[in-house]
Amino acid sequence: MSEQKQKQWQCQMPNCGYIYDPERGCKKNKVEKGCSFEDLPENYKCPLCGAGKKQFKACNWD
Ligand SMILES: [Zn+2]
Repeated sequence: MSEQKQKQWQCQMPNCGYIYDPERGCKKNKVEKGCSFEDLPENYKCPLCGAGKKQFKACNWD
């Protein structure tokens, strides 16, 4: 198989749906490209709605 793709995580807050993509990182939170969701700081917040990490769910497990 080819290289493993890092999981994307989606914010579960109603009307949000922001997806954290490790290949993009998160400029607003000063997260560099390639940082997996698991490695984000505990105080990471959704750049759109401000929800914490616990509100995110992995969206591509396969
Ligand atoms: Zn959100």
